[in-house]
Amino acid sequence: MSRTVLLNPGPVNVTDKVRQALMLPDLCHREKEFSDLMAAIRTKLLKAFNIEEEYTSVLVSGSGTAALEMAVSSCLSPNRSMLVIENGVYGERIRKICDIYRFNYHSIKMDWGKPPNLEDIERKLQQNPDIEVVTLVHHETTTGLLNPLKEIGELARCYKKIFLADCISSLAGDEVDFTSCSIDIAVGTANKCIQAFSGVSFVLFRKKDLERLNKIPERTLYFNLTGYHTAQDKGELLFTPAIPAHYALDVALDELIDETVAGRVQRYAAAAKFLRDGFKDIRLEFLISEGWRSNCLTGLLLPKGMSYEELHGELKANGFIIYAGQGKLSNRIFRIANMGDITHQEFQRLLKVLGKIC
Ligand SMILES: *Cc1c(COP(=O)(O)O)cnc(C)c1O
Repeated sequence: MSRTVLLNPGPVNVTDKVRQALMLPDLCHREKEFSDLMAAIRTKLLKAFNIEEEYTSVLVSGSGTAALEMAVSSCLSPNRSMLVIENGVYGERIRKICDIYRFNYHSIKMDWGKPPNLEDIERKLQQNPDIEVVTLVHHETTTGLLNPLKEIGELARCYKKIFLADCISSLAGDEVDFTSCSIDIAVGTANKCIQAFSGVSFVLFRKKDLERLNKIPERTLYFNLTGYHTAQDKGELLFTPAIPAHYALDVALDELIDETVAGRVQRYAAAAKFLRDGFKDIRLEFLISEGWRSNCLTGLLLPKGMSYEELHGELKANGFIIYAGQGKLSNRIFRIANMGDITHQEFQRLLKVLGKIC
């Protein structure tokens, strides 16, 4: 029997080598072997994205939201504010974290799937000198919209703000140029375009911001960024990590460095193009207009007269797992991600099956 192909935006299909890494021997995280593994992963992350000089990395066990909460909760100085840009579930999640930590924030809110207006952002920055950190979700997985990382990063730099980007569903899938995008803090996870298992996520940030970050009072026991950074630099851990997920991430990073990030971004872009040409032939309608779509996920309107459950069921029976829309989009759209170790033959078969169903 052929395997199940995951067309959801993480967890993703992994290579056999990454899967086999889960079977490595039992290990205590307080032993040197784990310190070495952790150090190797932290270095490989920086190496993969070619940011060894200026950035450092922190690992945290948990899904992407763990690293996101860690970054957001730990990066705002007392009495300053965040600028939150919301056009989907994940932008709204950053606002929710700000609410929970009782942060002051300003918000720019658009309909889901609508790109933000740069003039609105610039005006907010001009009018509110209390803003210290600008946050953006790069690939808004809710819709498949790729937000203008570079333009907003440039605005943040121009107004001397810290720029925090949720790159959880774009790192290694869409181009993220840390320098030209002026990223100060980026959040990522093992189980999307990095092609490993869920259970470990990470924050990448500029070493020169460490002094400022260290002055921020501790606001959370489990998610304090600088606490983790200090411990990990000493080869120590504050809490028990998801050990097998680390084993797999280490192997997945070897594969990523081998393929190169640019190579993987190209592979995903080619897969997305192939799928989208096929979707057009089947006369499916796109949620996001061309030019604004990420490389990793396509939002499509449900075919007339077909429910998501029906479509999902038919595809599942054929070995394909698609993803529902979230919230207000849940009965209007479905999503097809092309993250992970998926072959061209599998994408071809998907289009064939989908054509028959529609
Ligand atoms: C997947 C994702 C997250 C994290 O979701 P988890 O369920 O914690 O893995 C955060 N932001 C974006 C943009 C995502 O795609």
